Amino acid sequence: MLDADFFRRWMTATAASVDREAERLTALDSPIGDADHGSNLQRGFRAVAATLEKEAPQTPGAVLMLAGRQLISTVGGASGPLYGTLLRRTGKALGDAAEVDAQGLADALRTGVDAVMQLGGAAPGDKTMIDALVPAVDALGESFAAARTAAEEGALATTPLQARKGRASYLGERSIGHQDPGATSSALLIAALAEAAGE
Ligand code: ADP
Ligand code: MG
Ligand code: MG
Repeated sequence: MLDADFFRRWMTATAASVDREAERLTALDSPIGDADHGSNLQRGFRAVAATLEKEAPQTPGAVLMLAGRQLISTVGGASGPLYGTLLRRTGKALGDAAEVDAQGLADALRTGVDAVMQLGGAAPGDKTMIDALVPAVDALGESFAAARTAAEEGALATTPLQARKGRASYLGERSIGHQDPGATSSALLIAALAEAAGE
């Protein structure tokens, strides 16, 4: 079973990974964006880690809802409200249970990803974070490690796509040939989940 401590470890592992990869995320956002994705998420997840330490929420749902609120209030740009919605809605779907099982998390994360698609209007294949998140959720019923692999493959598969949402879509065909920064950071989020699970 997965308790609040597991979800805190997921968020702190994400913060550490985003810190390590911030320059790469910003570099990916340079040719098809405004070169701020790494710094946006670094600011956001540092704030998440700090607030989780200070407020110590006691249930899985409360951890993710607090993390999501923090992202929304600290990350400028498209990715803040989108990742904030992902975590808040996933947390809300977990309810106030003290522990959840892997299937419960997979179902809740599906609800969160659906909310991101509703908010941003992106579907799979539009060259966004959705291209990593949807395959990850699909694979989560199998294992955390399978979800990590699916997210990484989904992020790599954005390279030949033309962007249809977000800033990169302004480039039209010139967005082709570049890996999407948000799909790349989503793969980090899912890799941190597998790390928290010890997989
Ligand atoms: P901004 O584009 O405002 O500078 P970021 O650089 O932080 O924001 O985030 C860019 C990423 O956000 C993109 O790489 C993409 O994955 C994601 N994104 C942008 N718009 C959408 C959308 N409508 N739906 C889903 N993801 C989106
Ligand atoms: Mg940007
Ligand atoms: Mg920006």
